[in-house]
Amino acid sequence: MSGGGMSGGGMSGGGSRRTVEEQLARVLDAVQALPGEPRAIRDAASRTLAEPATAAHDIPLFDNSAMDGFAVRFADVAAASADSPTTLRVIADLPAGVSDDPPLGPGEAARIMTGSPAPSAADAIVPFEDTAGGLADSLGEVQVLRAPAAVGAFIRRRGADLRAGDDVVLAGERLGAFQLSAAVAAGVERVSVTRAPRVAVVSTGSELLAPGDPASRGRIPDSNGPLLELLIADADAEVVLVARVADDADAVRAVTATAVERGVDVIVFTGGVSAGAYEPVRGAFDGRGAVEFTSVAMQPGKPQAFGALESGALVFGLPGNPVSVAVSFEVFVRPALLAMQGRTEIHRPRASFTADAAWTTPPGRRQYLPAVVDLAARTVRPATAGGSGSHLAGGLARARAFAIVPADVEAVAVGDAIDVMLVE
Ligand code: AMP
Ligand code: MG
Repeated sequence: MSGGGMSGGGMSGGGSRRTVEEQLARVLDAVQALPGEPRAIRDAASRTLAEPATAAHDIPLFDNSAMDGFAVRFADVAAASADSPTTLRVIADLPAGVSDDPPLGPGEAARIMTGSPAPSAADAIVPFEDTAGGLADSLGEVQVLRAPAAVGAFIRRRGADLRAGDDVVLAGERLGAFQLSAAVAAGVERVSVTRAPRVAVVSTGSELLAPGDPASRGRIPDSNGPLLELLIADADAEVVLVARVADDADAVRAVTATAVERGVDVIVFTGGVSAGAYEPVRGAFDGRGAVEFTSVAMQPGKPQAFGALESGALVFGLPGNPVSVAVSFEVFVRPALLAMQGRTEIHRPRASFTADAAWTTPPGRRQYLPAVVDLAARTVRPATAGGSGSHLAGGLARARAFAIVPADVEAVAVGDAIDVMLVE
């Protein structure tokens, strides 16, 4: 067990380390799910359902044809064959969009296109391929060359997929392309969804330059800002403030006040949380109780700050190295953003892959190594040739996953089974 209450000076240096699970549990305990609000289905893309979406009508909506061809009475054509065709009178034409329900008497058929409502009097569809003339000149009569396989052949039955009142998409699920289209198909007009969490991204560091600005000795581009902006958007949250501040606790307090004024739900700081001489996030928050400074048994990402402000906004203070930021986001921030949206599944998919390279891992800490995976071969290897350093920002470009190596493992050998978190 580690990390008691943080009143007073916090867990500066030394102190016992918390496991990833312990820290994540603290984060998730502090998360409050946003309330559901009504939305028109057309404005609900990518949102998470607070209540299930229930079908307003059946899918299919009505019995309809699965083929371009002829709606028939099965008994009329049960004996049809190429040697002895059955001739039917075509008394109606049913292209897409019609609502007609033509009565079919004995010896009668209706030409019908895929998806058009099957006449109530028909109990099979003969595809045009099984007729002598096909679809051309077929509005007078049709010669059927092959009997349908059974009563009901090629008729898609009303409600076979979903019934009115059934749940189409469950509460806690995201309305992605598949879910949204299914809800629309079921006639859903309004849904109850959670809004996008409002997030501020603040990079700290007197060395930081705006992305794209010319570099110089001692200065480096702020790559954490764009990294987090995209990761946050990808988690269906909204970035409402992006800032870069020098290593100055007052500047951190000022930007925090601005973020709170803008009604943010979350502030994510990078840098300035460890035990160096100029650590502005620590300087601004440590010792005030609201934000806790912790050491987590992971690599990278060991120093972590987390807490809640009086406004209710959650504060994450991530260590500054770009790989640490990417890992810390996946491990702590993303699950929190999804839980806030009421998402049932808040974790990335994980699977076991086989190491096809050897690498070393830090003793006593769980490793999250940027990795390349071969999905077909189910193999994994480090994304950077240069090792596992959290400062290797360039290697992130190749990573599609994180290899997760337990704290008690010190080296990975070729052929080892490795737990992998897939992030793309
Ligand atoms: P810190 O946690 O502030 O001590 O930062 C650790 C390392 O990450 C230092 O080498 C920083 O220069 C680097 N770093 C901090 N913030 C950023 C950033 N926004 N973009 C790129 N590198 C950063
Ligand atoms: Mg710094």
